[in-house]
Amino acid sequence: MKLSAPQFWRVRENQYKLVITICGDCGKKVVFKRPTCPYCGSGRVEYAESAGVGVVEEFTKVYFKRDSSEDRLPEVVGVVRLGEGVRVVGEIVSIRDSEVREGMEVEAVLRKYVSDDPYGIIYYGIKFKPV
Ligand SMILES: [Zn+2]
Repeated sequence: MKLSAPQFWRVRENQYKLVITICGDCGKKVVFKRPTCPYCGSGRVEYAESAGVGVVEEFTKVYFKRDSSEDRLPEVVGVVRLGEGVRVVGEIVSIRDSEVREGMEVEAVLRKYVSDDPYGIIYYGIKFKPV
């Protein structure tokens, strides 16, 4: 996903940190900073930063190049269950695609997503690497 610089600035908190929204009414947690609870609609929410450590629950391999692809294919995209109990989708990096396993421990890292051009703005975001 390629965003303009102003768009990226507005969503930067969710790009650079794993923020968890915790509902003060139903108690459910969801990843990313949200103004209301997606389960019950309550606006009584609190935020906490995830430790960024979790387990790969499932994954798939993507064989087409996207804007955010690093210089390798296939890229591995996984569903990671964080230690706080919420799930988030992210690319698994710093490991061969054939070595990724369900149940492996990973931690969040800040990596390049995309750049405007060779001399343009470089956008970073959260990906996951083995612990
Ligand atoms: Zn709720």
